[in-house]
Amino acid sequence: MSTHRELREQLGVYALGHGTPAERTALRAHLDGCATCRADLADLAPLRDRLAAVDLDRVDDLPPAPAGLGDRVLAGIVAEQAATPLPLRRRHRATAVAGIAAAGIAVAGFGVGWLVRPVPEPRPLEPVAVQVAVPEVEATADVVPHTWGMEVQLHAAGFTAGEVYRAQVTEDDGRVVSAGEFIGTGSAEMVCNLNSSVLRADAASFVVLDSSGAVVLTSSL
Ligand SMILES: [Zn+2]
Repeated sequence: MSTHRELREQLGVYALGHGTPAERTALRAHLDGCATCRADLADLAPLRDRLAAVDLDRVDDLPPAPAGLGDRVLAGIVAEQAATPLPLRRRHRATAVAGIAAAGIAVAGFGVGWLVRPVPEPRPLEPVAVQVAVPEVEATADVVPHTWGMEVQLHAAGFTAGEVYRAQVTEDDGRVVSAGEFIGTGSAEMVCNLNSSVLRADAASFVVLDSSGAVVLTSSL
């Protein structure tokens, strides 16, 4: 049989919904007959409510809390309790419960901190001038620099429906690199992200060729 002191150490873990089935059963049985532990558990309710507000769909994304953190903090609190003379015990209870709650919130804080962590700023769009060689085509373009290369976001209409177009980026040294292909959508507006391995700093120009290789659109970068 576990003692009151051993079981009380597990209250924080119990309140967080952790512990093996056997541990939880033992603690529940002890709670039936121990008003002190019931009171401590009731004091942990605000923590439980706070945890209930965490988005459970994202819990799997959470980094693990350091192993044994909660147990170490709780063990420290209990050790301090054991060393405290009896007349002070009662007054210490509130402190101990606050400590348990703080330990739980510290553990929960890993999750909350992770959920509200700063999201990197979106990459800035760099509008670039576009010249079209075909009157039917209307287009604007933005460049997005990436660590892996460069993205051209092409907003356009008037590329012949069903025709396959090729996009290319020319580097400063003249090397021509593919930026993918797309199919014309006729008069319907299209938004097409064309990716190339050329870094923004090395890119000199961007071009779109039709299926016969004729230039339809150019942009100096
Ligand atoms: Zn107890």
